[in-house]
Amino acid sequence: MSTPRKIIHVDMDAFYASVEQRDDGRLRGRPLAVAWGGKRSVVLTASYEARVSGVRSAMPLYRALERCPHLQVVPPRFEAYREVSAQIRAVFSSFTPLVEPLSLDEAYLDVSQPLRGGPSATRIAQAIRAEIRTQTGLSATAGVSVNKFLAKLASGLNKPDGLTVLLPPQVDELLLPLPVADFHGIGPATAARLTQMGIHTGADLRAASPETLVEQFGRVGEHFWRIAHGLDDRPVDPHRPHKSIGAEETYADDLYGPQAVHAVLPGIAASVERRLARAGLAGKTVILKIKFDDWSVVTRRVTVTYPVHEAGRLTQLAGALATPELLGGRGVRLVGITAAGLCLPAAPPLGLFNLDPLAGA
Ligand SMILES: [Mg+2]
Repeated sequence: MSTPRKIIHVDMDAFYASVEQRDDGRLRGRPLAVAWGGKRSVVLTASYEARVSGVRSAMPLYRALERCPHLQVVPPRFEAYREVSAQIRAVFSSFTPLVEPLSLDEAYLDVSQPLRGGPSATRIAQAIRAEIRTQTGLSATAGVSVNKFLAKLASGLNKPDGLTVLLPPQVDELLLPLPVADFHGIGPATAARLTQMGIHTGADLRAASPETLVEQFGRVGEHFWRIAHGLDDRPVDPHRPHKSIGAEETYADDLYGPQAVHAVLPGIAASVERRLARAGLAGKTVILKIKFDDWSVVTRRVTVTYPVHEAGRLTQLAGALATPELLGGRGVRLVGITAAGLCLPAAPPLGLFNLDPLAGA
């Protein structure tokens, strides 16, 4: 058996909101949401003061305002977030060249053979959190374990400003009762299908046969079975540039006709908006993917001059591609929206935002 790896998952706390509160004293201690502010916009990040009122990332902004009427809303400033992101990545790479960024504020590090900091991954995680705080004034949470899946699970256990070490003997206690929807890598649509199969928890997923899971979900089915056992041998991969960012959903009951397809687009677009925001990117091309009930796949794309990052526009552009001619009368099994031609989100045209962060405060 090979020596166990030492993996750290580092995640900045309420990242975009914390940067805003750091840079504008008037926002400190207040419930704050960072959001584009368009009609269908979703919360990109909520401050912990807003989370107390039930405001969450990915929640539609209007709902967040219902839950928290005094919510301050500011548009994202990606230049500022990228600057902090570069600072924290410099901290990471001073400890190990094996850094895999997941977004502007999150990364996996393999510290099995660190460049400095000694042999203890826990001490390295402490040092990283301390250096991030000194250099950026912001707090980070870290999880330490033997693989990526468990390190990510660990960091989620103790937020904000926490450090959790998860060792194999504690894994069963955590994973067996864990709802499948809470496994990182199992999205809502997959979780719903697992539930239909009678698989509700980690224990159920363990008991399932890997062959059945592969039959249902393809190769990733085996990964689901492995993570239910706390196993994950995916390497920390430092070279993984984004080519495109998208989301798709598979439906248990086929969708028929443009109306049914148009109805599911806003939900998928909201996931894409959130993923784009996490990477600090926008797309010049929007691609609609449709898989029919006979498993044939068609894609249609449109390229625009003003880069898209917002769910409302993603929905509109994808909707325009989902024509009656394309869909015919056929049953649709899967719908996907992808943003490609990735670039920095451009500043919105003047007048799009008239949200004074402190209006009504
Ligand atoms: Mg974070």
